[in-house]
Amino acid sequence: MKSAVNAASSSLFSVLFPSDCRICHAPLTNIASLPVCAPCLNKIVPMEGPLCQICGEKLFHPNAEAEDVPLCPICKRVGAHFRRAAAYGAYEGALRDLIHLFKYKGIRPAGKVLGGLLNQTVAAIALPDSVIVIPVPLWSGRRTARGFNQAEAIARTFIDFQSSSSIQLDTSILVRTRETASQTGLTRHQRRANVRGAFAVMKPARVKGRTILIVDDVMTTGTTAGECARVLRRAGAKEVFVATVARATKEAGSVLAMAASALSGGTQGHA
Ligand SMILES: [Zn+2]
Ligand SMILES: [Zn+2]
Repeated sequence: MKSAVNAASSSLFSVLFPSDCRICHAPLTNIASLPVCAPCLNKIVPMEGPLCQICGEKLFHPNAEAEDVPLCPICKRVGAHFRRAAAYGAYEGALRDLIHLFKYKGIRPAGKVLGGLLNQTVAAIALPDSVIVIPVPLWSGRRTARGFNQAEAIARTFIDFQSSSSIQLDTSILVRTRETASQTGLTRHQRRANVRGAFAVMKPARVKGRTILIVDDVMTTGTTAGECARVLRRAGAKEVFVATVARATKEAGSVLAMAASALSGGTQGHA
């Protein structure tokens, strides 16, 4: 009985008085619905160019900046099913932490911030006036386990920012027809095979000739968004754009690793 009272009073305490920042653990100085401090939020910055003009991948080749239409090697070689994918920031640091708080820790107010970031991302790509917004659907089992689809929640917040009624959310068009294994650790080819046939368009008449904006929280290699775009285009969509809050920059890691190995190699050379 006593512990129940203690638990109740301590949870009341945490509502009335601010706790620590859920990212850096510094004490919060004012009461806000989002338990993240301003310095952490300020660390969330947009991706800087040069970026692939199709998939949004960060480009590291030396001449990328000088090219009229910079493209990554894959988009140059095989293209993509979507016209363009854009993300607000790199999937790392405070942005990654904020997405995790939203997705896995039940910090729902983080969704407002993420929806705002998505809104800035979409504003930067030239979309036609009339657009159907489709969040990447979750497998029903996963949706039940998580309690919500983070992509849909972010898309709904994004819609709240729109003044035009010609940008409309539709969650009934695209469905996930089967569960897919985690894409983590798979090669590009394996990822393609993993998601192939995992999505279906339920209402082709609605997408015929229309411009679609696919929304998700994170884009890793673009395989999932690419598969969604593929089935939507096959169902008659005119063009498909993709907007995500974050984008994994896979080459950044290898560039850092290369720099580190060059540095350690250099140190050894001097020794
Ligand atoms: Zn913080
Ligand atoms: Zn690309």
